[in-house]
Amino acid sequence: MAIEKLLIANRGEIALRIHRACHEMGIKTVAVHSTADADAMHVRLADEAICIGPPAAKDSYLNIAAIISAAEISGADAIHPGYGFLSENAKFAEIVEAHGLAFVGPKPEHIRTMGDKIEAKRTAGALGLPLVPGSDGAVSDVEEAKIIAEAAGYPVIIKAASGGGGRGMKVCTSPDDLETLMQQAGSEAKAAFGDATVYIEKYLGNPRHIEIQVFGDGNGNAIHLGERDCSLQRRHQKVLEEAPSPVLSQAERERIGGVCAKAMADMGYRGAGTIEFLWENGEFYFIEMNTRLQVEHPVTEMITGLDLVREQIRVAEGKPLSVTQDEIRFTGHAIECRINAEDPRTFAPSPGTVTSYHVPGGMHVRVDSGLYQGYKVPPYYDSMIGKLIVYGRTREGAIMRLRRALEEYVIEGMKTTIPLHQALLNDPDFLDGNYTIKWLEEWLARQDG
Ligand code: ADP
Repeated sequence: MAIEKLLIANRGEIALRIHRACHEMGIKTVAVHSTADADAMHVRLADEAICIGPPAAKDSYLNIAAIISAAEISGADAIHPGYGFLSENAKFAEIVEAHGLAFVGPKPEHIRTMGDKIEAKRTAGALGLPLVPGSDGAVSDVEEAKIIAEAAGYPVIIKAASGGGGRGMKVCTSPDDLETLMQQAGSEAKAAFGDATVYIEKYLGNPRHIEIQVFGDGNGNAIHLGERDCSLQRRHQKVLEEAPSPVLSQAERERIGGVCAKAMADMGYRGAGTIEFLWENGEFYFIEMNTRLQVEHPVTEMITGLDLVREQIRVAEGKPLSVTQDEIRFTGHAIECRINAEDPRTFAPSPGTVTSYHVPGGMHVRVDSGLYQGYKVPPYYDSMIGKLIVYGRTREGAIMRLRRALEEYVIEGMKTTIPLHQALLNDPDFLDGNYTIKWLEEWLARQDG
């Protein structure tokens, strides 16, 4: 099937990103938007735009009935969910397909499996991915928990099966605290996710976050596109991402990438996915799989030359992947800075009207953002207002270019995290690639101290 008109069920920079890929493929676009986003750039550029509800996401970007109606009214033949919102909602994917529309994403059953952390871990293990040692599924009995924790070795982490966003997790250092912390984790999980189920894992002291980009055609063929290092995080939110990781050799990349690609082929996975690992002392430990496009996908695009959204759309049309594993060449280095409308010290949200705007340009500089002069950043959604991505032949070259591009970037009318990135790019540890998932929070604490 050839997609002729695609509905973009998202907002902000990712909606614009999808629109761009569509127009380069000769596909018409339909934007859906809340009343707060009537003036958004992707709404202006799309071939058609339909208002689907008031500002609150639950009434607009999460409103399945309104989105399906918009697809029917506009005659769209496919829906791309972007990231966040409905992108990992298996029910939504099923409803889209039941209406005869192509869902630009994985098969609903794979979204469902990977959305349940215990089920995801079990599936990953069966597919041969390396796991964090711990319980085989849910744990409710304290005596059983003690045996598991002893075997894995303290400290352990108690995690919610339905968890997300880093919530419902408790680190436990001694068998004496296990019962209390299990109860706390369970009741927090119940309150946050309506499900008290918890499981236990060995707690890794100081790992990096390294994730593998995978792609499947849904018919048993799959490839990997290397890794992204996303260890620079604050409150489990990624701040800056780079590819390749400063710590992986080509042989290690090929080995873990090969394991992931084979797992996806065996599963019959369709479309883009990301397998997230913690990495410590040269070992990978699976934590979860995201069954969608990631915010940080452009760094992979920069070092492979592949357009991942185009690839997603091709697969949704039933076409094969446009490249084989052997044809993929990793060249150079790419870094992405997430730019948020936030105070760079306190991280308090700072929405406002863009009074002056100038984007950096030049060789190997990419800005994915819906901002323009006069645009009013609405206060209702995520604070990320843009991404600055650069490419260099070497990591050092990419860092020099990123410094230059950040210097050029002017966003007036609100506070942004540009100064945070500028400070990071001058830190000796960052320059050495010497950081873990704990590093940024410790660094921030030092800046305040
Ligand atoms: P969520 O879906 O809530 O984001 P994840 O399983 O992806 O949960 O974990 C989020 C973060 O919590 C990880 O990036 C890591 O910082 C920390 N974490 C999770 N599991 C472990 C573990 N076994 N050891 C150490 N840290 C962990």
